[in-house]
Order: sequence, then C-alpha cells, then structure tokens
Amino acid sequence: MAEAENDTPETRMARLILALRSQGVIEPKVLSAIETTNRPMFTQALFRERAFEDSALPIACGQTISQPFVVGLMTQALKIDKRDRVLEIGTGSGYQTTILSKVARLVYTVERYRTLMKEAEGRFKELGLTNVITRFGDGGEGWPEQAPFDRIMVTAAAPGEPKALLSQLKPTGVLVAPIGKGPVQVLRRYTGDGQGGFQIEDLIDVRFVPLLDGVAKEL
Ligand code: SAH
Repeated sequence: MAEAENDTPETRMARLILALRSQGVIEPKVLSAIETTNRPMFTQALFRERAFEDSALPIACGQTISQPFVVGLMTQALKIDKRDRVLEIGTGSGYQTTILSKVARLVYTVERYRTLMKEAEGRFKELGLTNVITRFGDGGEGWPEQAPFDRIMVTAAAPGEPKALLSQLKPTGVLVAPIGKGPVQVLRRYTGDGQGGFQIEDLIDVRFVPLLDGVAKEL
C-alpha cells in the first residue's frame, strides 16, 4: 500500500495494525502493545520515515530492528500471561523488548553489543519501563541465575536446537526462535510437555541476523 507522505503518524499506525491483522496477528493485547509503541524512536534518523512500514530496518552495529509483523507473530506465538517472566535474546533496538514489557510481568533481555545495549537502555528509561532488566553478554548461554523462565524469545537465528536456552525454560514453558544456518530460517515454537520433552511446531519462514558466539569485541 502506498505511504502518503502527509499522512499523520496515527493514520500510518492504523494502516500498519490493519496489515498485521490481515496476516494473522489478532491477539488484542499484542496489537495494543504494538499500537502504543512509537516505532520511530527505535530506528536511526535515516530510516525514521519508514518506521511505520511493515519491514525490518537497519540499526547500529550492522543489526536490524525486526519487521512489525514478525514481532507481532512471535509475541502472539509465545502465549504470554501477564504474570510471566520472559527472557529475550538479542535486545537490538529494544523494540521487541518494549512490546514484551507491555504483555509480561518481567522481561530479561541480553545483547552482545555494548552500543546497542546502551541505546536500548536509554529508550527504556525514556519510556519509564520499570519491568525490563538488561544484560550485556552472550545470550546463547541464557541467564542461568534468573532461570527458569515462563517464556523465552530468541530474536537472532540459532543454527540448531537452542539446548542451553531450552534447559532454562519451565517444564510447561514456551520458547520461540528462528532456527537455521542460511539466510532464511524457520520460526520454531517449543512447548514444554511438563515431562522434560517438547512439542515442536514450525510457524513461518523468517530472515534474522545470526545468533553469534560470545560478546562483540567492537563497541
Ligand atoms: N529484538 C530486536 C532485534 C534485533 S536483531 C529488535 O526488536 O530490535 C538481533 C540482535 O541479536 C542483534 O542486536 C544482535 O547483536 C543480537 N545477538 C546476536 N547474537 C547474540 C548473542 N549470542 N547474545 C546476545 N545478543 C545476540
């Protein structure tokens, strides 16, 4: 759909919400979290004009802010309860974190770039989010001191089954992650069966930046 340059942010947001709905993001609390989150503030000045488009955009450190549809679908797929403690791997811009903070009790988020972590922390402060706890580190290892989690969301592509993260999930918890080594991965949902096993479902094809080992040496 054509973006008219003189459309107000409200009109642009309404159009984005309609687009997400038509693609299957229908959970009211997820749509409301997206609608009340000002995506332009998570983007770089150069791309701010495109913040209401349903597309991923570049952020610092060669990373990306996820596509709103994918953010909505992943949040919906996690089936989050207001009492849940959620672990997010890959803070990036902090956009997905902010959406999670509106539907969960506590969000723990890990990022391997100091620059991105600091920028995201600044946004959380500006927004007055009091239920987001950040950590600079290798998210592939999860956050053992705070485990187990009700829900885990991985926003970078894991090459295979994320075993360390699955071990930090409650017995009936849910984990959603893009899985695959190539440019296109499958968004996979693991639902704990309460006995140490998982029901596995493949949702859609997605394109995420890779989950990398260790923290970034560059800033
Ligand atoms: N959720 C983000 C998407 C960021 S892209 C948003 O809404 O903006 C994925 C992020 O995962 C990048 O910032 C990347 O640096 C980070 N990442 C990749 N591997 C990681 C790892 N092992 N530990 C923590 N963060 C990682």
